[in-house]
Amino acid sequence: MDIPEDLRFQDLTGETFGWLTVLGYAGHNNSGSVWLCQCACGRIKEVSVARVKQGWRTCNGPRCPLLLEKLFEGKFIIRPSGCHEWQGAINAAGYGQVKRDGKMLMVHRLMYEMRVGPIPDWAFVLHYCDNRRCANPEHLFLGTHQDNMDDMVAKGRQARGERHGRYRGKRCEGGGLHGPERQPGPA
Ligand SMILES: [Zn+2]
Ligand SMILES: [Zn+2]
Repeated sequence: MDIPEDLRFQDLTGETFGWLTVLGYAGHNNSGSVWLCQCACGRIKEVSVARVKQGWRTCNGPRCPLLLEKLFEGKFIIRPSGCHEWQGAINAAGYGQVKRDGKMLMVHRLMYEMRVGPIPDWAFVLHYCDNRRCANPEHLFLGTHQDNMDDMVAKGRQARGERHGRYRGKRCEGGGLHGPERQPGPA
């Protein structure tokens, strides 16, 4: 491919960066050159040199589907409710999280992106099942900030209800963090 001579950069064609093999020059964006890359997951994707400098070694940083498959392997327990319950680390709010490229990422959001599609900027990924460890894409839906607030209020009510009686059991049987007992799960 012809590379304009006035753009002084290193030709990265044929270089590999982790799972990426550079197939050729794809153009320029605001942050510099962009390269057509083949990822070990099979995807061919344009990756900017700025991303590579940031440490991206896959087609989509921490969101490469193959990377996520490996990251998620053996980390879920499937509950009778259908919840795919994360058995790895959780954050203070009770959501499953993984660390990639120095960032903490929420497991249910990653799974949503992986199985359903991109999450718009305005959207929160909410749970039908109220189980914050759950990452079953079928239990996830997109909502607005207001939906998220309503959802939190609803969960607060549920928690209060549980304290007063046997409210639990009508909801997600996978057991959220709001239940009186946490699922033991393997270490
Ligand atoms: Zn990939
Ligand atoms: Zn669920």
